[in-house]
Amino acid sequence: MSMHLDEKLEPIYQEVLARNPGEMEFHQAVREVLESLGPVLVKHPEYAHHKIIERICEPERQIIFRVPWQDDKGQVHINRGFRVEFNSALGPYKGGLRFHPSVYLGIIKFLGFEQIFKNSLTGMPIGGGKGGSDFDPKGKSDDEIMRFCQSFMTELYRHIGEHTDVPAGDIGVGGREIGYMFGQYKRITNRWEAGVLTGKGLNWGGSLVRTEATGYGSVFFVDEMLKARKDSFEGKTCLVSGSGNVAIYTIEKIHELGGKCIACSDSNGVIYDEKGLDLNLIQRLKEVERRRIKDYTQYRKHAVYKEAGNIWEVPCQVAMPSATQNEINGKDAKTLVKNGCIAIGEGANMPTTPEGVKVFLDAQIAYGPGKAANAGGVATSALEMQQNAQRDSWDFDYTEQRLRKIMKGIHELCYDTAIEYGCPGNYVVGANIAGFIKVADAMVAFGVV
Ligand code: NDP
Repeated sequence: MSMHLDEKLEPIYQEVLARNPGEMEFHQAVREVLESLGPVLVKHPEYAHHKIIERICEPERQIIFRVPWQDDKGQVHINRGFRVEFNSALGPYKGGLRFHPSVYLGIIKFLGFEQIFKNSLTGMPIGGGKGGSDFDPKGKSDDEIMRFCQSFMTELYRHIGEHTDVPAGDIGVGGREIGYMFGQYKRITNRWEAGVLTGKGLNWGGSLVRTEATGYGSVFFVDEMLKARKDSFEGKTCLVSGSGNVAIYTIEKIHELGGKCIACSDSNGVIYDEKGLDLNLIQRLKEVERRRIKDYTQYRKHAVYKEAGNIWEVPCQVAMPSATQNEINGKDAKTLVKNGCIAIGEGANMPTTPEGVKVFLDAQIAYGPGKAANAGGVATSALEMQQNAQRDSWDFDYTEQRLRKIMKGIHELCYDTAIEYGCPGNYVVGANIAGFIKVADAMVAFGVV
């Protein structure tokens, strides 16, 4: 189903498969990038000579560790912790931590690999990394979350630091978890080192707009794609999957720009509200009370909840997958296009399967891949690091303007690179090539390291 690989790249991909057995998501992420790189090797023979692609596919360091913790009844549990420090050519490793039962090495590596190119696209001095655990935060008390985070950091602390590796949040890791981890890091190291983690609380080194950044940034990216087609969000019907951090601020910014979100979801089901989603209600349910999205219908009686429903069957003009990997398959993509969808902005990482991506590209709708569209989160983390280094804090409007400008810059870079390589309008090619070249040039400069 997926595209043909260049003859120089096929053996590299085969080697990745052989060296990393069973890591499907990692294979998928590598293949997606390699599919774009054929023409780059023609223009830049030095990359093949220096074996840049082979090197980029091998993480610089992979750490796996035991995380023992006790629940409220005193029972002992053992989870597995990961940190994959993938590439530090452009700066300290940077990327979030994911706590979800599906986590294993293949997921962390796919996320870390994507992160290299995403971080490069932001233009900020950050390398790529990712981490997490197969711990399931669902249904755990605050005390249990705290004990888990402390145990996790008791090993992780020796691998991270403001100039080494700077983790942040991802699925299952938000402000609460970052707080517990920062507290434990500070205690173990006896250092108040703001720059070691991002996504911190506002009164202890955090940045305004970081919480909103991934969602807002994804909407800004789609807004730029629409502008390039002389269109806008005004009056557009939108879908946003998930109901977590990224989904909530995606919905908020779409509404600010004049669009209307009519559905969101969680891993159990889909909420459909034809009058437009009530964001205050969603925030209260999800951020304050930590409840399920199902409860939305208790307060908005006309809304409909569909257990195990498929959100992509709801007709829309703009779809913003903001939950998890591979949530849009080929069939879903066809349904979206058939129902009149003209733009996709990926808030989540790799939410579309290769079959789905092909459907969007063939239909020539505006398709913004995650490594470009959701880069606003990590870019604002880098702004948080800048503020920490200056011992300063910027106001909301200024920080949001910086984010907006960064997203505009990423769009322009992807747009222009796609044209340069003969694929106008193809943001996959644009993002992969532009992200890759900056890292590759730095690696060439450093020699064989
Ligand atoms: P949250 O934990 O805040 O929210 C995740 C949401 O997605 C929840 O509604 C969750 O539902 C749903 N979800 C998670 N896993 C699955 C699954 N396997 N099947 C169906 N639904 C699922 O995470 P974020 O909002 O931070 O992250 C969402 C996506 O955005 C991820 O792909 C992440 O990698 C990506 N991203 C996040 C960034 C950030 O700054 N946070 C930055 C860039 C990308 P439920 O509660 O039922 O599990």
